[in-house]
Amino acid sequence: MAKTRKKASTKRPTRTSSAAAKARRYVYSFGGGTADGRADMKNLLGGKGANLAEMARLGLPVPAGFTISTDVCTYYYGHGRTYPGILKSQVRAALAKVEKTLGKTFGDAANPLLVSVRSGARASMPGMMDTILNLGLNDETVQGLIAQTRNERFAYDSYRRFVQMYGDVVLDLKPQSKTEEDPFEVALAEKKRARGVTQDTDLTADDLRELVAEFKALIKMRKGVLFPEDPEEQLWGAIGAVFGSWNNARAITYRKLNDIPEEWGTAVNVQSMVFGNMGPDSGTGVAFTRDPSTGENVFYGEFLMNAQGEDVVAGIRTPLPIAELAHQNAKIHAQLMKVRRTLERHYRDVMDIEFTIEQGVLYMLQCRVGKRTAGAAAKIAVDMVAERLITPKTALLRIDPERLNELLRPVFDPKAKTDAIGTGRLLAKGLNAGPGAATGNIAFHAEDAEVMAARGERVILVRNETSPEDIRGMAAAEGILTARGGMTSHAALVGRQMGKVCVVGCGALLIDYATGEMRIDGGHRTVRAGEAISIDGFTGEVFAGAIPTRPSEVVQVVVDKTLEPSKAPLYRLYAQIMKWADQYRRLGVRANADLPEQCEHAVAFGAEGVGLCRTEHMFFGEGKIEPMREMILAESVEERRRALAKLLPLQRADFEGIFRVLAGRPLTVRLIDPPLHEFLPHDEQGQREIAADMGVPYERVHTRVEQLHEFNPMLGFRGCRLGILYPEITEMQARAIFEAAAAVTRQGIPVEPEVMIPLVGHVKEFTLQAELVRRVADDVLRETNTKFRYLVGTMIEVPRGALTADEIGRRADFFSFGTNDLTQTTLGVSRDDAGRFLTPYVEDLEIYPKDPFESLDQNGVGALIRMAVDKGRAANAKLKLGICGEHGGDPASIRFCDTAGLSYVSCSPFRIAIARLAAAQAQLVR
Ligand code: ADP
Ligand code: MG
Ligand code: MG
Repeated sequence: MAKTRKKASTKRPTRTSSAAAKARRYVYSFGGGTADGRADMKNLLGGKGANLAEMARLGLPVPAGFTISTDVCTYYYGHGRTYPGILKSQVRAALAKVEKTLGKTFGDAANPLLVSVRSGARASMPGMMDTILNLGLNDETVQGLIAQTRNERFAYDSYRRFVQMYGDVVLDLKPQSKTEEDPFEVALAEKKRARGVTQDTDLTADDLRELVAEFKALIKMRKGVLFPEDPEEQLWGAIGAVFGSWNNARAITYRKLNDIPEEWGTAVNVQSMVFGNMGPDSGTGVAFTRDPSTGENVFYGEFLMNAQGEDVVAGIRTPLPIAELAHQNAKIHAQLMKVRRTLERHYRDVMDIEFTIEQGVLYMLQCRVGKRTAGAAAKIAVDMVAERLITPKTALLRIDPERLNELLRPVFDPKAKTDAIGTGRLLAKGLNAGPGAATGNIAFHAEDAEVMAARGERVILVRNETSPEDIRGMAAAEGILTARGGMTSHAALVGRQMGKVCVVGCGALLIDYATGEMRIDGGHRTVRAGEAISIDGFTGEVFAGAIPTRPSEVVQVVVDKTLEPSKAPLYRLYAQIMKWADQYRRLGVRANADLPEQCEHAVAFGAEGVGLCRTEHMFFGEGKIEPMREMILAESVEERRRALAKLLPLQRADFEGIFRVLAGRPLTVRLIDPPLHEFLPHDEQGQREIAADMGVPYERVHTRVEQLHEFNPMLGFRGCRLGILYPEITEMQARAIFEAAAAVTRQGIPVEPEVMIPLVGHVKEFTLQAELVRRVADDVLRETNTKFRYLVGTMIEVPRGALTADEIGRRADFFSFGTNDLTQTTLGVSRDDAGRFLTPYVEDLEIYPKDPFESLDQNGVGALIRMAVDKGRAANAKLKLGICGEHGGDPASIRFCDTAGLSYVSCSPFRIAIARLAAAQAQLVR
């Protein structure tokens, strides 16, 4: 059959490439029940190619085709957008194989093979890169298609779509500005107008044939090139466009948002076409093997009869639920149910599939692991363990710790919501695509959403449908609302992935972009851009105005204790996952908490202690700031002591409260840390006020503030430096801690105080303070005649502390890495001043892969930590090691801490669940 190829080039591959390159395989075939590739070859074949191969191996009906590997993409960009010499012959051989399987020939006038050319990167990037369908059509082969299908209208419609897609994607004939309309769509509309029809489907074969010619003329006129009639040329044009699309603006933005490295590249899949638009017995659909929104174990999807693939995802026609297919075509529905079972058993996960029915025959066009909400992820993981599809270990690895936050998301206050319904504020109801409750001001354009969010407004992005161009605006919005599209539309898919509250397919909304308003109820109500609305991603409801939110189920059970666990299914999933996580993690998890109530929350979320209690917050409370200021303004030690004596009982009471809540869990208290001027007002009026309050002259306050002024407070008179020059402050704080510990011990509650001396760079700083603390401890133990264990340690947060960790370690009971300051001092970057350059550093220049204040700079700051761990442990085998910077709640940093051998991480109470899971994962991936 290959002999009948219209234009089979006989040129041999060039011999200039190296021997190694020649031997290399770049093309992998699939179809006809076999495949060269496998699911685990995603790096090479991309996700789509690897899974098409896997489905073919499983015996599922996959149209034959082949995958050009990501290596070619790397080569393409590394060699001035050219291909390895051997690629042409490998593609030709693979194409011949497809031709043989199908008994059709690419470019053959009588019996043409048509293909799609599809992108497919390692990680799925929905709609980010371009796909071309119906490739291989020209004025001759279209006759063959007519002969094959006996459907002239269908053939010309396919041809029309192909020329349009090719013109857009490969030849770049697309709108050049926001206001310009798509030239092809203009021509199409013009044709419909001329024929006096409104629907595409009303155009006849002749109309469509004319359109093909008009489209080609348009390309010639606007782009100065001829539309390529040669299928071979079409194919290579499309392959080049897919590789080229790896670096289009949309793809780049998407990669940034999802941490996908540029080096990965995309593969290209060339696959024989099947047609869902060949009549009422044809169709197309997408489905999830379980509900991706709730995780419920039901087949979940949508389909459209007499439609091509793109139509479902594009959200242009609202598709039907998959259950309806059982009525329309029971045989296909049953077949799909079987595919569902096969895929879930094989992948042991929820899969997201694309299928097409061509004249009653089912074909599988794609499968991949389904994206899901955090709630669904939890439910699916727990259910699949119960079904014995996966082990608890696998279940834990399947859940993104960062996204556990979604389980803690607020919901609308039910009473406020009922009131809103009662007062007629319920505007409409759409599909509940992404859970959570969001209130914000309306933006009808993604750009507006970005601008409004940058101003600090909460925004709901409202669109007819979203497209990949909108992703930055979607990222900026609290929630996304669309008028069209189903549960698998772009908005739903991307919104879910971003963890946004999302309501889609809300057909009652009539959005008028031009006037910036939307009408509901046939125009009875109008809501304008900038006005507040509320969307409920659990139910799909849309409300006018703001609705107050209230805590999630988990928070209600765990923190507020206002809900019974038996009435909280989401909480039970959370509890099960945490139970498994605790079985596998090695790292302890503590909280950064300063007040008894915060400590209580932390314990409720599973904290095993407090890793950082900042005492300065205690100085700001009711009745505390005054003696604090007195202390700072004091002109003699005696005066200072008198002020401190007033603070002592106040601090002691705070510590007592915390010790009681912790009930024997360790409490690390950091001694006073911030520079003293932070406790005094900097403006004249404020200074006059406190001078009057305290009965001292204004000048005295003013002069003291001047004295305390620093050019670089971060590196100034703070941390242990305060306690070293004013030992009476340390003495008072130590006394407050130990007297509280003694009092609580006497109440029969165990205590475990750990006193932490901040900002130590020199061992002498540590010994001066530690001796003082230990002396006070001994005094208190003797005076109160109690017994409890206590530790004195330091925060390692300046490089010199890490560099001399052996010296300090010999004298300290513990180190806690204060990675906020350690990052500032190691990088020489002030976090408060970094905004201007750090954002471009991270986002554009990629100097740091992530914001080093969010995720630990492992090569720099991490190297210091490792050194301090080694030196400290060598000097003192019993040294306790932890981390208390923000990084203690960041999964990647937690993994680092696990490897570095720390004993615990400490993070904010609301990140405890994340830390527990991340710590378990760190062990499981070891
Ligand atoms: P994306 O990665 O953006 O989902 P796809 O490559 O999956 O893009 O293709 C876009 C649409 O075209 C999908 O609906 C897909 O099912 C459909 N499609 C792709 N290849 C074929 C084919 N060979 N036959 C029929 N439909 C196809
Ligand atoms: Mg797809
Ligand atoms: Mg610090």
